[in-house]
Amino acid sequence: MKKECSEDLQQTVLRLQREYLERLPRSLELARDRVNALRQGAANENTLADLYRCFHNIKGTASTLGLRAISEGSSEASELVAQLRRLDCRTHRQAIAGLNARLSELETLAGEAVYPDPVATEADAALMSHVKAGSRTGSQRGCIFLFDTAPDAISLANQLACFGYQISYFSTSDELRAAMHERQPDAVVMTVSAIDELADLRDQHPLPFLYLSESNGFAARLKVVKAGGKAFFLKPIAAHEIVNTLDELTIEREPDPFRILIVDDEPEMADYLSLILDATGMLSRRLNEPTRILEVLTEFQPDLVLMDIYMPGCSGREISSLIRQDPRFVSIPIIFLSSETDKTVQLRAMRVGADGFLTKPILPEDLISAVVVRAERTRILRSLMMRDGLTGLLNHTTLTQFLETSVAGARRHQTRLCFAMLDLDFFKAVNDRYGHPVGDQVLVALARMLKQRLRSSDLVGRYGGEEFAVIFMETSEETAAQTLQKILNDFSTLSFKAGANYFSCSFSAGVSGFPSFKSAEQLVLAADQALYRAKNNGRNQIVPAKQTAD
Ligand code: GH3
Ligand code: MG
Ligand code: MG
Repeated sequence: MKKECSEDLQQTVLRLQREYLERLPRSLELARDRVNALRQGAANENTLADLYRCFHNIKGTASTLGLRAISEGSSEASELVAQLRRLDCRTHRQAIAGLNARLSELETLAGEAVYPDPVATEADAALMSHVKAGSRTGSQRGCIFLFDTAPDAISLANQLACFGYQISYFSTSDELRAAMHERQPDAVVMTVSAIDELADLRDQHPLPFLYLSESNGFAARLKVVKAGGKAFFLKPIAAHEIVNTLDELTIEREPDPFRILIVDDEPEMADYLSLILDATGMLSRRLNEPTRILEVLTEFQPDLVLMDIYMPGCSGREISSLIRQDPRFVSIPIIFLSSETDKTVQLRAMRVGADGFLTKPILPEDLISAVVVRAERTRILRSLMMRDGLTGLLNHTTLTQFLETSVAGARRHQTRLCFAMLDLDFFKAVNDRYGHPVGDQVLVALARMLKQRLRSSDLVGRYGGEEFAVIFMETSEETAAQTLQKILNDFSTLSFKAGANYFSCSFSAGVSGFPSFKSAEQLVLAADQALYRAKNNGRNQIVPAKQTAD
């Protein structure tokens, strides 16, 4: 795996080098015209600025792509141009002669096209596979084996199934053994009483084992710890208490990859950066044309921007100021990329609100660590702003914004969409009878069930205290109502525990659909009215919104 990754990277870097070397003579030709103009005394201040940018860019890209000799030649050439600019003397013979000589060397090097050391090393590959391992893919429902001889175990199995788990229930240890021989579950939930008898199963199958116990004693708990048990649950137990642990142990979440926008006018440089970022499981987008920056920021919603400093037309510093002037993008991290080693230039760049500075050549490990730390921070901040603390669902403001953009998208692509509002039935009574913390458990359980049972493209939010809302993408009213009805059936069979008492809950919901209702506002109003009817009709039901006349 490591090897594959490394070979892949090396191959692509070699391709980028080749492409760059093919393009280089053209860049050098432009430099040649300007150097000739200098030699003939026909240059102006712009000629020097263009020349500086040209050599500076070659230096950065070539060094990053491992083209050392070309990078060094360009570095010397850019120094000579800087000298000419400082002296404000476009006719300094010695400097011009030096520049001419460096350029001739570069022309020769570009003509010879020597492919140098590959940039990626085994260490890079290891680093990448490490980052990749941290971002496991595939989002699957867990398959759980439940073994318990007690009669109430069947009801526990049914309740766990309501949370989307695939449950196989066994009432004897022989049945469990035979099943484990056939196939491997994601976790085993079993009674502590059979812990010794099944010791060999644990040795053969390195899976998470969770234990249910009749006794809360130290001996039982110690037994579980010694057996390497992942969790201990005291009976009687409600399913939602186990679900938390099972989720952590078994659900392989597909993490949303970090989204990185690369603004660099050099295609090979942008390709190189995007190659490294994509290889570590991030999602990058390249922008060669800085004038489209605000549009791309809005559409791509990056977690971080990598910005080249020297670009034609406008500088990275100017674009950063422009980004920061838009309130929507004040907090997005910007990292500058440049071959600029001058600290004062770097500091000046930081003053416009950059969060970091990476100097070319950019090594994969430096790039990844700089990006990951800052992108993670953006994610956390964004999540705090967008999500409800108790349930982790989208908050009211965010869901409303998503509804607006989803309706606009559905209108543009002529697709359907549904909006549902859910409200727990007689929830005040739950709080009054069992206390607020128990009420919170019910809210969390419904949130979890909605998240698990709906598709990842659907958006689920906590709309208010005990109200939830769902946006179903590309779904008809009938399908949305049927889906919610199934969730309601299962939710109402869950039993919640409050001290020695058990109780269950239901909810009511109203569903409206686009294009029957034409705007976000109309969808919300219609779903709310349908919810009101559901409550008046006796609660514990899903009611579709009445169609409007048009
Ligand atoms: P209905 O079936 O008509 O919806 O009756 P209801 O009792 O559910 O509705 P009502 O609007 O009278 O009461 C809502 C209750 O929800 C009151 C409030 O204390 C409770 N609630 C709101 N937010 C939270 C919360 O975060 N945690 C808990 N535990 N309760 C909450
Ligand atoms: Mg309410
Ligand atoms: Mg209510």
